Amino acid sequence: MNECLFCKIVARTIPAALVYEDDLVVAFDDINPQAPTHTLVIPRKHVVSIAELQELDVGLLGHLMLAGNKIAKFKGITDTGYRFVVNTGAHGGQSVFHLHLHVLGGRHMAWPPG
Ligand code: 5GP
Ligand code: ZN
Repeated sequence: MNECLFCKIVARTIPAALVYEDDLVVAFDDINPQAPTHTLVIPRKHVVSIAELQELDVGLLGHLMLAGNKIAKFKGITDTGYRFVVNTGAHGGQSVFHLHLHVLGGRHMAWPPG
């Protein structure tokens, strides 16, 4: 998936402010942050969206969320709280088609979402 923006970040051919990485995921700060903390956690493997997940990816999804928790700790927002968002498809507001978990925090989040 050479043309995928987030695959290029994984491959380090496009720079990003890396926050965390391990054998399965990479995390970096969003280029257009919507909150004081706005970090994206993505699988190294190219998965288009939540809708494309297979049974064998169940562990990967759990790993993605645990990485999100690590980032929350690192960013100091564990106690104040945070929000995980996974936009999926056109109506879900997805704009980059490589699965990513938004980790948002550092301010009070509104509900319902827009
Ligand atoms: P989506 O709308 O697909 O849920 O989220 C995509 C996110 O990727 C957006 O919040 C957008 O700001 C972020 N983004 C798009 N291009 C880049 C980039 O080149 N670098 C970084 N760090 N974030 C990006
Ligand atoms: Zn990709």
